[in-house]
Amino acid sequence: MTTIHNLGFPRIGARRELKFALESYWTGESSRDALKTLGAELRQRHWVEQQGLDLVPVGDFSFYDQVLDMSFALGNLPERVQGFHGDALDNYFRVARGRSAAAKGEEDHGACCGGVAAAEMTKWFDTNYHYIVPEFTAATRFKLDASRLLEQLAEARAQGVKLKPVIIGPVSYLALGKAKDGSGKLDLLERLLPVYAELLDTLAAQGVEWVQVDEPILVTELDADWQHAFNTAYHQLKSARLKILLATYFGQLQDNKYLAANLPVAGLHVDVVNGSREDVQQLLGLLPAHKVLSLGVISGRNIWKTDLNAVLDWLEPLAERLGECLWIAPSCSLLHVPVDLDSEKKLDPEILSWLAFAKQKLDELRVLGKALSQGRDAVKAELAQNQAALAARRTSPRVNNPVVQAAVARIDAQLGCRASAYSQRAPQQAQRLKLPAYPTTTIGSFPQTAEIRQARSEFKAGRLEEVGYQAAMRAEIERSVREQERLGLDVLVHGEAERNDMVEYFGEQLDGYAFSQFGWVQSYGSRCVKPPILFGDISRPKAMTVSWISYAQSLTDKPMKGMLTGPVTILNWSFVRDDQPRSVSCKQLALAMREEVLDLEKAGVRVIQIDEAALREGLPLRRSQWKQYLDWAVESFRITANGVADETQIHTHMCYSEFNDIIESIADMDADVITIETSRSDMELLDAFENFHYPNEIGPGVYDIHSPNIPTQEHIVGLMKKAAERIPAKRLWVNPDCGLKTRQWAEVIPALRNMVAAAKILRAA
Ligand code: GLN
Ligand code: ZN
Repeated sequence: MTTIHNLGFPRIGARRELKFALESYWTGESSRDALKTLGAELRQRHWVEQQGLDLVPVGDFSFYDQVLDMSFALGNLPERVQGFHGDALDNYFRVARGRSAAAKGEEDHGACCGGVAAAEMTKWFDTNYHYIVPEFTAATRFKLDASRLLEQLAEARAQGVKLKPVIIGPVSYLALGKAKDGSGKLDLLERLLPVYAELLDTLAAQGVEWVQVDEPILVTELDADWQHAFNTAYHQLKSARLKILLATYFGQLQDNKYLAANLPVAGLHVDVVNGSREDVQQLLGLLPAHKVLSLGVISGRNIWKTDLNAVLDWLEPLAERLGECLWIAPSCSLLHVPVDLDSEKKLDPEILSWLAFAKQKLDELRVLGKALSQGRDAVKAELAQNQAALAARRTSPRVNNPVVQAAVARIDAQLGCRASAYSQRAPQQAQRLKLPAYPTTTIGSFPQTAEIRQARSEFKAGRLEEVGYQAAMRAEIERSVREQERLGLDVLVHGEAERNDMVEYFGEQLDGYAFSQFGWVQSYGSRCVKPPILFGDISRPKAMTVSWISYAQSLTDKPMKGMLTGPVTILNWSFVRDDQPRSVSCKQLALAMREEVLDLEKAGVRVIQIDEAALREGLPLRRSQWKQYLDWAVESFRITANGVADETQIHTHMCYSEFNDIIESIADMDADVITIETSRSDMELLDAFENFHYPNEIGPGVYDIHSPNIPTQEHIVGLMKKAAERIPAKRLWVNPDCGLKTRQWAEVIPALRNMVAAAKILRAA
């Protein structure tokens, strides 16, 4: 018998119940008890939904983040929140958000529970989930607090769940954290392991047979010290009287295979979707007999149906060979996919038939389990249905567009090249745009007021006519243009009033994209994203932004920026096809966006910005694979951007400032101007550009748009002076860190006024 199990279930709820409960607690509208009750209900419901599995995860539910949960279980609280006398859950939110909750009717400024600096948050491997970074110092001590886990275990047991607690392993826990004082994190291992041993003993005392210990860092490059840490850790934990399933996911083990196979644990889980079958073949030779091998054969990261017959073709011989030692599961926790496809009532039925969300993925797992234990005949109907859906998808004309495929095949090295080098383009652009030194601009969006949100959603719901909608948006564009003229900005934007999201806006207008209604995935805390579904060859039926930009340009003599999202960002923020490489989908997007660029140019737009906010996010986990990704990512951007004439100025924008390790690729994009986020780093992050002798123009952000604070003129001048120490002044722009859509006009106007005044001071100097 093959054991079927799950690594984690999405906790946000099919209707984002957890999100709403959290936010209502945080604003003081509902009680802590109500929140806790909702949490228990969700856990209970999710366990019911996992019925029929041999082992169901417990402890995967979290009110904010599983890594933060682990920090609390290990008693590793930042010093600034230690000694808090309130409720433990409130203290937990203080670490996550800098405050816990507002007292009823009060503003959410942390007054009631004492505000503290929120902990840092960062991306969970290469997913769009963000975790709370554990903080360490040389003085860090650990102390077990298993209460949360024990509570959930008790609930699960009361419900008759065949449970398997889930925790984050000690080595990954250390690796994911940050030593605040620069001390060596690995020095803490010795102090950490006894607490893990105590935790395992506690679980064993509860009668737990299997515990899932997540060690995803095994799919990254590990140096000798970290490899050694794995050996130390698991040799020390092996005396625990329960069985450890060591879980890895998100990639291949590669050279960590030998290490992983030989750790003294009872079982090993590997990701076969984002990892490789080759790894598995080699593992078979390395794994000691009696060790469980759990194979993640259903994607926990994507929303497509699994090809069940193909998986069975591969699994059946393995089942024969491994017998009881073979387990199967999703590749990783289902945290990264939406909950339930059955909620989707508006999705095109044809596309719907190709998809599987978390619940449907568990159905697939049950079918695979049954096929392995009773033979494929036992699930004949399910397999036939699965085959039919996949066959339809493969041949659907909605997926395959020969014209697009031919266009991709025709891409040559020339397509992504500007006619001339930057040094020749720059004087032509200067002559045409006639900009002062230190030109000022913004990144694209202006505050999204309640009125424009309302107009957009009324229009979407069909309650507002096209004419009324157009008028509302045009009024907002006009307001933005007038404000910018009053402020004296040099290169204007239309303000993006018509966009709710920089990817969705384009996805909705491109063929090959579908949108779910409830396909939410947790991004961090209560925040969710609904990635569009890229299902087919991408084409652009008609111009997407030209009428808005042309209208905006008609209102002013100043240059108006055309504003687009780049192909790499559109790709990285979507659920992508699993039937062709990401690089191919990206090039299709690039060709479609190129048409838009050329249409804007034809309409007389002189400056076009192509945002690549998510370029860095797409970097593979292993450095050795970076180059390949960067090559096609940069090529895609170049295809989109570089078909324009010399005198058209291309901008790009990136929402971060770590460029050291990718600067060569950034330069390769050959944008005339790049705007980046630098205000909080005091311009030190421009060092990458300085050291590389970055040849084109740069707009280092001088206004932290994440904060309601209004930067002063002196502050901006100071920052720009620092920038000018690193980059020749004639290649500097003055702009905010990012778009202003989350701010209020009342903040934006004085901030930009100071920014323009600062630019004038700089010019005069
Ligand atoms: N043009 C977009 C805006 O201003 C850019 C946003 C982003 O890069 N995240 O909103
Ligand atoms: Zn940005």
